Formats: sequence, structure tokens, C-alpha cells
Amino acid sequence: GMRNHEMVPVPLITSIAKLRHGGSYKILSTLLRHKLVAHTNTDYNGYRLSYLGFDILALRSLLSRGVIHSVGRQIGVGKESDIFEAQTEDGEEVVIKIHRLGRTSFRAVRKNRDYMAGKSKASWLFMSRLAALKEFSFMKALYAHGFPTPTPIDQNRHCVVMSKVNGSPMCQIKTGNMYGAEQVFAICMSILKKLAEHGLVHCDFNEFNLMIDELGNITLIDFPQMVSTSHVNAHDLFVRDVNCLRKFFAMKMRYVAPDDMALTLDDIVKGDIAIDEEVKASGFTAEEDAALMGYLDAVAKHDESNGGRAEGEAGEDDNSDGEEEEEFDEHNVEITQDHVFVGGNVFGVLDDRNLKDCPILPSTIVDEEEPLDQPDDAAEDFSDSDISDEETRAEKEKARREAAAAEEGDEGVQDKVKSAREKLQRDIYKNAKGAASGKVSRNATKKRNKYGKIDKTVGKALLNDW
Ligand code: ADP
Ligand code: MG
Repeated sequence: GMRNHEMVPVPLITSIAKLRHGGSYKILSTLLRHKLVAHTNTDYNGYRLSYLGFDILALRSLLSRGVIHSVGRQIGVGKESDIFEAQTEDGEEVVIKIHRLGRTSFRAVRKNRDYMAGKSKASWLFMSRLAALKEFSFMKALYAHGFPTPTPIDQNRHCVVMSKVNGSPMCQIKTGNMYGAEQVFAICMSILKKLAEHGLVHCDFNEFNLMIDELGNITLIDFPQMVSTSHVNAHDLFVRDVNCLRKFFAMKMRYVAPDDMALTLDDIVKGDIAIDEEVKASGFTAEEDAALMGYLDAVAKHDESNGGRAEGEAGEDDNSDGEEEEEFDEHNVEITQDHVFVGGNVFGVLDDRNLKDCPILPSTIVDEEEPLDQPDDAAEDFSDSDISDEETRAEKEKARREAAAAEEGDEGVQDKVKSAREKLQRDIYKNAKGAASGKVSRNATKKRNKYGKIDKTVGKALLNDW
């Protein structure tokens, strides 16, 4: 009933649930008491699910499917997501990302109740489900093509289950303390380039969404905002991603990348595989994407008009259930083909993305500025990291990836995934080796040996090899 109604009228609930009139009231009041639904009486007598209720439905589904066995502590708070640890039946640690669209956005607008008093078609729960669906679809496709993403495990409603990534986001590395920054930069750039060759721009490619472990393995996360390279603004969005990465390495890791690594989409030669098209064909439709992107654009607009994303973010982590419940209630958004309306007023226009130089994303643990002359001790390069069982974890992760590939069932698919992954791993290490040992040269291409390996050089040529 929530697909077409923000608040579902009681008679509809009764008929969908196949209950007697009195029966549904009794159940609804119990649910209301436990805050699993919220109630309205303004226009008509109706109820809608709360985030808590939605959480329970999703977790219960994942539980009954045998995907998870128990849920553990919260390990991350994104702008509009909560990240929890969970365990599978055999004790393996996985991660559940719970999308919570509407949590931090429209804060200013929401304060004005009159302004928000319009009708609503799209509920935040529905948007959160779209975000989870998109994230899972892209993660599956990227993973299958060998990109370094978490292993996609399952998705239900607004939840995505994936493998737990070793290491931490790069934003947690102390300033100037990244071991092999040049090499890490080269790998990140090659991932960005490889994405574009496959028809994709990440659109949030920054130190918050690039995770790194003690061995320098890099994992890309966070996919709900990805666009196709055929998107009207793809060119600018790609350049923004590139600049974001360059800026982070220059400002925080003191590695200024050479100019010839400032790629634009014009430098990209599209390959045979179009993941953007693949995803569209398999589960996440263009219409669903349009609805989600309309929302995300509106949020970006709102953030921009408030002087950047950082504002008002500090206090976001202390959401009690009650507060969340309160916030959810007041969002009224309608999304059409090309506009986003809030309370009947145009709030955003689709395809007119907010192109800021570099988004400042919230982070739970951002290090403070360190003195410049900090000792360069490789052993302490990664702050806050637990290296004790790092090797076993790496092994476990490898095994889980192989097991996941094996579970694909079809032997052909299984082999394809495996060989794509193996090729990618080889490429990454090849890149890393080249980047570690060499200086940048525009003539790098000439120095390849007959196997196409890069010899003591890094730069565009290295990236082309990926
Ligand atoms: P958001 O879309 O809200 O930014 P992210 O997907 O970027 O959410 O996740 C937020 C944080 O949660 C990340 O910065 C990271 O610290 C943690 N995280 C997310 N996914 C994983 C994972 N698979 N394994 C370990 N940590 C994760
Ligand atoms: Mg993120």
C-alpha cells in the first residue's frame, strides 16, 4: 500500500491484510504503540510504516532467508545510511547497509510546516528501497566484472548485505601518513578510468568511499549516486571525481599528481562492456533511477544553498528512534519525470546536478591536521587499524569471494567472475609495482616490454594498461 500512499488508509490496510475491520485496528494500535507505524488523522485515517517497522521487516526477511543470523554493533554512519555488522549462520562477519533517505535532508525546508503541507507520492522508505536496489545492482555488476567492491550478498527493502571490507576509509589515514601515496593514487585513478571505460561515473569518488587495508588493497564502496557516461553531466561529474581524488592526495597525502593524470572523459576509450546498460537491463530500471536521482539532486541543491554539505551535519549521529520518527513524518516530495516538488513547489530539476568542486562529506572519524614533520614510519601509517588478524581476514575475504562466485551456480558465470577478478588483481598489482618504483614520464608507453608491463614508470600510460 505504501507504493501509492504516504499514509495508507485504514480500509485499504484491512483489505490488503485480509483482516476483519476490528482486527486491523487492534493490530495497528499495537504496532503504533511500538512505533512500528505512524498514524495520521488530518486528511483521512491512515497509517504508514516507520523506519523502525521497515527495519524489522527487512531484517526478518534476511533472517528467514538465512542470509544473516544476528546483527551486531553499528560500525558506520553515512550521510543517509547506517552500517551494521552482522553474522551469518557460520559466524562469518558481514555488513548490512541500511539506507535512510530523508534523514538529514530538507532540514531547513522541513522546519516550515506550511511549506511542507503538500501532497506526497514518494515516501522516503520507497526512496531508501530504491537506493538499496541501485546499490546492490551496481555492486553485483561491478563485482562480476572484477572491480574491487565488497562482495554483494543480498538486498531486501532498504538493506544491502555485503562482505565486510578489511581496513578503513582513506579519510581516516593521518595527514601525510599514507604509505606509497603515489602508488595508491595511481590505483584509484585506474579504478576511476576503468569505470568510465565500462560506461560509469561514480560521482562520489573520494576518500570516504575508498577503503584501504594495511597491505594497500583498495575497495570502492557506496554506489547509489552512480551515473552512466552518457548522462548529460557525465563529463563534469567525471572531472569532479578526478579533481576530488587529486585534491585529497595533494592536500592530505602530500602527493601532487602530475598534470597528465588529470583525465577527462575525452581521454577515455569506451570498451565493449557497458555496465550502465547491463544494470538497466537487469533489475534497476531507468524510471527507478530517475526517481532516485531526482531526490539526490534535490538534496544536493539544498546542501549547496546552505553553503555546503558540512553544515548541520555534526549533530546527525545522535539520532534517537524518536527523532528519526519525527523527521520522517514531515517530508513531502513528489517526483515527476524532470522535477522534484516539495510541498507543491519546485525544489529541484533533474539532470541539472549540483557540480561542486569537491563535496565535503561527513565522516565519523576524520583525523585532525598533523604537524608536517611527522616521522615517516611505515608501521604506523594506518591510524586506527587493527593489524593483528589482518592476514587471516584477508584470506577469509578471498575465500568468501571465491565461495560467492561458486554460489553463482552456473559454472560459466563462475569462471567468468573468477577470471575477471584474477585479471583485475594482476592489473592492480602491476599498476602498484610500476607506480611504486618509478617517476612519471609522458613517454611511458615506449618503455613497456613485450608483455605490456610498465617498467619503472607511472602516468597515463600506466592507466591505459589497466
Ligand atoms: P553512505 O552512502 O552513507 O556514505 P557508505 O556506503 O559510504 O555510506 O558507508 C559509510 C561508512 O561505513 C564507510 O565510510 C565505511 O567506514 C563503512 N562501511 C561501509 N560499507 C562497509 C563494508 N562493506 N565493510 C566495512 N565498512 C563499511
Ligand atoms: Mg559514503
